[in-house]
Amino acid sequence: MSETETQKKPAILLLGAPGAGKGTQGAILGNIPRFYHYASGDVFRSLDTRTELGRKFVEYSKRGELVPDHFTIELWAVQMENLIATHVYKPDIDILVLDGIPRNVEQCKMLEEHVTIHQVFHLSCPDRSELERRMRKRALKEHRLDDASETVIQNRIQTYEAATKPILDFYPDELCCDIDASQSPAKVLYDILARLQTLGVYQEISAMVV
Ligand code: AMP
Repeated sequence: MSETETQKKPAILLLGAPGAGKGTQGAILGNIPRFYHYASGDVFRSLDTRTELGRKFVEYSKRGELVPDHFTIELWAVQMENLIATHVYKPDIDILVLDGIPRNVEQCKMLEEHVTIHQVFHLSCPDRSELERRMRKRALKEHRLDDASETVIQNRIQTYEAATKPILDFYPDELCCDIDASQSPAKVLYDILARLQTLGVYQEISAMVV
């Protein structure tokens, strides 16, 4: 699958540490017409754990580590093809809300030929104890094994710092927008929407009559 510049999927990226609120914001945005929310972690969690990929996911995620890039990008590509074939996601009129992918610079490079990132929303929460609190709460409410142990929580935050945060240097500064993720979910959404309104791609797509 290799797209020309005009065929590349328009996308925005939600970037942030675990617990920063990417999933909450992505789910809301995905409910707005002309947006499609792709949450990499959710797709991994939905895999049959009897399959090779399902087992790989459990092996890495239970340690708070990233699944190797080629598995992750291949899964993304297959999902995209299926979603397009079933008309669930329409790449010519939908903006892809990428949540949890790309997760390191290598994945950014691998996705570059398939998507055009129009904005990186950095959900910033420097208060690590607040992220930990949110993860512990999520472990209880959503039975998330990877958020259940203190060691794994620390590993997930470290992986974010070491592998994911450098993504902010990969994209040009003007594409990156800091959002204070310690605010209420409604205020975080408000800030994201305020920026989205200014994006040319959003103005073009939302003006299309389909
Ligand atoms: P999340 O729900 O986004 O925090 O993801 C849960 C787990 O899924 C992560 O800790 C990783 O093990 C795996 N995962 C999700 N997205 C990716 C990705 N883009 N690259 C590698 N592993 C991922």
